[in-house]
Amino acid sequence: MTSTICPDHGTFARRFGGHVVRPGDPDYDSARSVWNAAVDHRPALIARCRTADDVAAALRHARESGLEVGVRGGGHNYAGNAVPDGGLTIDLSPMVHAVVDPVGRRVRCGGGARQADLDAATQRHGLAVTGGTVSHTGVGGLTLGGGMGWLTHRCGLAIDNLAAAQVVLPDGRTVRAAPDEHPDLFWALTGGGGSFGVVTEFEFRLHAVGPTVQLGFLFWELARGGPALRVARDVADGLPRDAGALIAALDAPPAPFVPEAHHFTPGIALLVAGFAGARAHAELLAPARDALPPLCESVAELPYIGLQSMLDEAAPYGVVHAYNKALFLDELTDEAIDVLTGALPARTSPLSLVPIFPLGGAFADVDDDATAFGGRRSSRYAVNMDAIAPDAEGMAADRAWVRSLWRDLRPFAADAGSYVNFMTDPEPDRVRASYGARKYERLASIKAEYDPDNVLHRNANIVPAPR
Ligand code: FAD
Repeated sequence: MTSTICPDHGTFARRFGGHVVRPGDPDYDSARSVWNAAVDHRPALIARCRTADDVAAALRHARESGLEVGVRGGGHNYAGNAVPDGGLTIDLSPMVHAVVDPVGRRVRCGGGARQADLDAATQRHGLAVTGGTVSHTGVGGLTLGGGMGWLTHRCGLAIDNLAAAQVVLPDGRTVRAAPDEHPDLFWALTGGGGSFGVVTEFEFRLHAVGPTVQLGFLFWELARGGPALRVARDVADGLPRDAGALIAALDAPPAPFVPEAHHFTPGIALLVAGFAGARAHAELLAPARDALPPLCESVAELPYIGLQSMLDEAAPYGVVHAYNKALFLDELTDEAIDVLTGALPARTSPLSLVPIFPLGGAFADVDDDATAFGGRRSSRYAVNMDAIAPDAEGMAADRAWVRSLWRDLRPFAADAGSYVNFMTDPEPDRVRASYGARKYERLASIKAEYDPDNVLHRNANIVPAPR
């Protein structure tokens, strides 16, 4: 990436259309912070981009100065890929617009929009698109890896609703990618991650959602963890289209609906969001409650936006240290459940957890080859093993716990592949396994066309195929 022309950073900063933050600037520390507080990287330049032209200028400067490039959407990547030590961060955080066409049921949003920006704009019209479960997550990274959340069962992944994208390519060109424009690039963006270009605008199809939804939270203590996971699995496997679920091994939150005596009690939670009214939701929860009466529970109607942000406080930005590894399971078998419940007492941090995303419904309707996402091959569950601790010391033990649980669950998965958005260590063989050889080869040849020098490599990287 070195060049004979090497403009100094000061000249770049003066000419740049956005705003450049450098070491020593008052806002440098906040600009370089990411969600995972374990990441303490110091980029040489943070280029806050307002337009596609700014992104192109920043890419050009990085190339001419030989600086490694990181792209920052919402800053949620566990490894801190957005902030290369000594490199240049293309910070998209000023690009948060979200413009809704309520008649055509479309939204165009900036490449740096957070889930909250997108939801706020779309909910004004009673519309939504699948997004993450924490509202400060960036739409950018989330979508490019797939994007799963409460609406996955009803509407598919975020990428299943992607209509088009405006992309700045590493060579500085700005192109529109859609099924009929640069279709190969568009396909690569549907799950292939951030390897192909900097997306300055996403366009999604929208669905009628809300304004309110039903939420059921059932919690069982760890002593009944096995039966609880089997009940949760049965609910998830029989989930109707108009509902979404999340299963989690975690400590009971200190929430108003959890009796104080049970705050921080380790156990299993089943969360079910219902989009078809209170009666249908109650009918959905009743068999689980009857089969195994929970230790505590809450059923409430809340705004869709409330559903989307209710986990924000549990995952505060820039506060906790985190590490994760994940697997796709075709089935949550009794044997896999035994492994999971057997491992839970060995956690040392009460913040560490195992969220399990049931996949099915609209997710499973989509043909595997229709998108680059690798986890569609008969995957029924995305199991995310999260070590989360208040400091580095607490982290060490639970990082080892995550690795050991991952090894023990691995025999139940078809391969070592993962949802690429839940991968702190994107080892090349696991990235390859995540897509499968055939899709990976296709992605690698698209990468060779759009980013042959692998400028965008700070991600679950697709290495360009030799030309
Ligand atoms: P960033 O760190 O800003 O970006 C991550 C990477 O994405 C960058 O390195 C870059 O390669 C790429 N990137 C980001 N924006 C762009 C862009 N506009 N153009 C090109 N490349 C870009 N995932 C889910 O699917 N569902 C969830 O419910 C969910 N919950 C989460 C909750 C928490 C607390 C956290 C930390 C993560 C969660 N994730 C979830 C995972 C999340 O999808 C990934 O961490 C994702 O990478 C975050 O995207 P970001 O833009 O916030 O991150």
